[in-house]
Amino acid sequence: MAILEVLHYPDPGLRKKAVSVETVDESCRILAKDMLQTMYENNGIGLASTQVNVQKRLVVIDLSEDKNEAIYLINPEILTSEGTGESQEGCLSVPEYYDTVMRAERITYRYQDLEGKVIESEADGLLSVCIQHEIDHLDGKLFIDYLSPMKRRRLRKKLEKQEKQEKQEKQEKQEKQEKNQAKIL
Ligand SMILES: [Zn+2]
Repeated sequence: MAILEVLHYPDPGLRKKAVSVETVDESCRILAKDMLQTMYENNGIGLASTQVNVQKRLVVIDLSEDKNEAIYLINPEILTSEGTGESQEGCLSVPEYYDTVMRAERITYRYQDLEGKVIESEADGLLSVCIQHEIDHLDGKLFIDYLSPMKRRRLRKKLEKQEKQEKQEKQEKQEKQEKNQAKIL
């Protein structure tokens, strides 16, 4: 199993629309397992393929404390939705940012499992929110798109600054290491 790189906002890859999985085969199952491992590694409860720069409609979710209740959703789609409620959300692609967005309370949805079997089910609470959040990812949409343009602009600036800082620190560390190595010689 492999840990995949998770794209961070404002990476343009997060805006790509994923296409349907035609046949659920071994490569699809491998991707699903890698995505699950990547999600666990990053302490997330949901991950969509778009976030690891793969444009196939595949989502993994695990809401359990012990990380042992994985749900794989291939080609998920929402059939009906009912009610609206506030949901406090974060996202592996928008690090360390949380905000409140409005979501449907109850949904019915259809997907294929890892064997390609078509399943219809219903969800409320956290699972309902999570499925809506992940399907948005497959359509190139982020939860921060629901925020006001001003809030989003501020957030974008903050994240770009953070990323720049991290890059700089990494570079300085590397230069220091190179210097140290030079002394050893
Ligand atoms: Zn997300």
